[in-house]
Amino acid sequence: RRSSDLTVNPLVTCGHCRFCRAGRDNLCETRQILSMPPREGAFAGLLAVPARNLTPVPEGISPVAAALTEPLACGWHAVGLAERALELPLAEARCLVIGGGAIGLGAALVLRARGAAEIWLAEPSGPRRDIAAAEGGIRTFDPTGPGTGPGGVDLVIDGVGFGATRAAASAALRPGGAMVHIGLGDAGPGLDIRRATLQELTFIGSYTYTAQEFRDTAAALFAGGLGGLGWVRTMPLAEGAAAFASIAGGGEAAPKIALLPDG
Ligand SMILES: [Zn+2]
Repeated sequence: RRSSDLTVNPLVTCGHCRFCRAGRDNLCETRQILSMPPREGAFAGLLAVPARNLTPVPEGISPVAAALTEPLACGWHAVGLAERALELPLAEARCLVIGGGAIGLGAALVLRARGAAEIWLAEPSGPRRDIAAAEGGIRTFDPTGPGTGPGGVDLVIDGVGFGATRAAASAALRPGGAMVHIGLGDAGPGLDIRRATLQELTFIGSYTYTAQEFRDTAAALFAGGLGGLGWVRTMPLAEGAAAFASIAGGGEAAPKIALLPDG
């Protein structure tokens, strides 16, 4: 097979520990991630990947779109965790996603695909708000501007993960609501523990996805259920350092940059 015919689940798990056996393989006791120690080097020309981590990509799906399976699967997993915690179906739920990067926008697209009643997205960047709004079915607002965000929210998905976003999530939830935290911004305060106690808010940490969720996300993506996925900026692999610098600088308009290998 040509490499463009496959999309890769970067989460490498053992398959036999108690978590793998229970179908929570993203919590595998010896989990590893391609590109992180001890498996650094995912931007290499050639990469050894366990065969079970490969998902075939059907004809007509671009490699760039297929590569979005990974960030979208993070949202897929988060929404699944939320469904188990909420006492009402997504079709009746007011949902708020914080952050319009690939994780936040991806979570919003998954919520839309799974029939959420109301989807709000908080994002300070105007270009990123425009990208999310153009998808349809997602209401955007600037959380740094005057109060236009929703209150009485059933579900918040924090795709940023800083103290300020956890505080905003704590305040936006209605009594009994749930917050799913995907963002890895910082490990500081922000979560309103007192309000969480008095109003029985649920806090759920969410990390990556199970192997089955990765395949389910790929199937939804290939079927067109997650939108046109045209919001990726592509750059040559040789300009990778500039891509990372643009993201780290905070001014990057695209929710995701894909690096294209030469040839
Ligand atoms: Zn395991």
